[in-house]
Amino acid sequence: MSMRSLAWKAMVAATPRGTFSLPHCPACGHRFYPPQRHCPACLHGTIEFMPDDGMARVLSAVALHHSLDSQRFGHLPVYVLNVRTASGVSLFALADAPVAKSTEVVLELVTDADCPEGIVRARLLGE
Ligand SMILES: [Zn+2]
Repeated sequence: MSMRSLAWKAMVAATPRGTFSLPHCPACGHRFYPPQRHCPACLHGTIEFMPDDGMARVLSAVALHHSLDSQRFGHLPVYVLNVRTASGVSLFALADAPVAKSTEVVLELVTDADCPEGIVRARLLGE
């Protein structure tokens, strides 16, 4: 069952495996997340995907022990991080282990058997 938007699928298609990218408006330069069809700043209708090094800092984290969509996560608990990228965009990412606030992480857009449509995961620097 596909629950992801066309804009999400375009981002996955534009992001090489093991890397990260952010939706980018070529008209006004705005970078944003999640992907959507129109720029949230200027409503321009052509969105590009800009490679991003994925460097981010953890703003907050919660452990998720139950989910109505557990198949998406593969196993529970998962740790849901609110992060802010060095490029200035805030978003949610998943981690396999608890991560303290202010920790620096690297984001990757991952597609795997648990989540063939792709999900943003965070790993610790150096892992
Ligand atoms: Zn724009």
